[in-house]
Amino acid sequence: MFTSQHPLRQRLHAFRQQRQRQFRAFRLIRQLYQQSQVKQVTAAPALIVAPHPDDETLGCGGLIALKCQQGAGVKVVILTDGRASHANHPHLPTEQLVAIRQQEAAQALAILGVPPEDLHFLNQPDQGTATLPPEQHQAVLAQLVNLLQTFRPQEVYVTYRRDVHPDHEATYRLIKAAITQTQRPVDLYEYPIYTLWRPWLLDLKAEGIGTCQRISIHSVLRQKQQAIRVYRSQYQPIPPDQKAALPAGFIYRFMRPYELFFKAEPES
Ligand SMILES: [Zn+2]
Repeated sequence: MFTSQHPLRQRLHAFRQQRQRQFRAFRLIRQLYQQSQVKQVTAAPALIVAPHPDDETLGCGGLIALKCQQGAGVKVVILTDGRASHANHPHLPTEQLVAIRQQEAAQALAILGVPPEDLHFLNQPDQGTATLPPEQHQAVLAQLVNLLQTFRPQEVYVTYRRDVHPDHEATYRLIKAAITQTQRPVDLYEYPIYTLWRPWLLDLKAEGIGTCQRISIHSVLRQKQQAIRVYRSQYQPIPPDQKAALPAGFIYRFMRPYELFFKAEPES
């Protein structure tokens, strides 16, 4: 028999479950941090590859700011147009949403030190990177190859290969294929986004994942936090929506004084 307290009990139960998940996540991230190796940030030119506008800042914002301070060349390429964050919103046409997200990316990256000419949008369909028709897939690959050949980065950063989001995983596969095609040696690093939010989904035994490395971003933390806060379309609800596109608390996971990367093993 249900009582009038029932919905309250349900909410309390949900709150407790959420808190338990957070404790579990922090414990796992602490473990990962303690087992990681210190990575030095150098002035080596770097290409940051992001599936959606915001991934680059969440996963690599501190690294980008530190590199820019050192005068390193940093270019950012964003694969999708981000239209899926508010699909079917009653007052937000797709073109407007795409424009907002691109403006947010430009503004966030300006805070981190990357000028607009070093930011590239490939405008692929959000949620569609993994299922591009063959010709479109080839075209995106060619754009990435061209970027690698003209910019000649020594380091490439991309979302973790098993980041439990089809666009994030497909973006890894695309840049990996582009690097293989160029036959130029680069250091490839993977940054976790959804797997930092749900770290129990990290597959650290995945073949080729190598070691976890951490950088300290104390000196640029405020800059990174400011850049993350630019992405209002993602963490604030757009009326009449009651909920934001990102889960509550998501952005705070990325406002810590360190960043974690997985260094892919060099291929033999
Ligand atoms: Zn993303």
